[in-house]
Amino acid sequence: MKKNKPGSRVIVALDFPSGAEARNFVDRLQPGSCRLKVGKELFTREGPQLVRYFVERGHDVFLDLKFHDIPNTVAQACQAAAMLGVWMVNVHTLGGSKMMKAARAALDELEQRPLLIGVTVLTSMDAQDLEEIGLQPDPAEQVLRLATLARASGLDGVVCSPREAAMLRRELGPDFQLVTPGVRPKGAAMDDQTRVLTPADAMRAGSDYLVIGRPITKADDPVAVLTQINGEIADTAD
Ligand code: C5P
Repeated sequence: MKKNKPGSRVIVALDFPSGAEARNFVDRLQPGSCRLKVGKELFTREGPQLVRYFVERGHDVFLDLKFHDIPNTVAQACQAAAMLGVWMVNVHTLGGSKMMKAARAALDELEQRPLLIGVTVLTSMDAQDLEEIGLQPDPAEQVLRLATLARASGLDGVVCSPREAAMLRRELGPDFQLVTPGVRPKGAAMDDQTRVLTPADAMRAGSDYLVIGRPITKADDPVAVLTQINGEIADTAD
């Protein structure tokens, strides 16, 4: 399994409109200096060959496709992702324990499996949105409930807001991996993020991996920004 591999705790969100731009950007980065997140937009445009391109160059790739379907379909999709050589994949915990267990079982058939991470409540949803779809409306309670179910179903961790990291770390123990977007280095533009923590504060709150996009991808010198963030969190990483 690729769990707890040493290396940078920063996962750069490759939110580029084209594969060419993503490749140009990634070609400037040392594989050990960060990990890479490929999401739905880039994957839908460019397909698995872009993921293979990064993997072949030694990068750890988080394939952020948030699978949510019947157990067999999600299990096969996770296996297909793993065969691309990715380091991390994710599923929606709202798919339930049968789906999550099937995903884990499918990955366990492989010699080297990626980390399997769950999405709990999308941070774009508030209490009213949850109520509207018939869910218990307190987002924090819902996050804890789904993260607990994810752990019991064999997932390695969850994506969460850095503001939820301390609570999840306390409730779910030291080995559950917390992957947090919503991180902004001091002085960086907020873009459309509202409630953010700095990289060091997010690590102190219990995050294992920080998903950071625009402060790095839009920087004049992305390598310098990455070096600065890696330095800032070096003391806080275990
Ligand atoms: O550019 P920025 O650092 O805001 O990018 C954050 C990345 O994390 C984006 O790819 C965004 O879609 C993702 N994300 C997020 N908030 C969530 C879940 C994912 O910002 N709750």
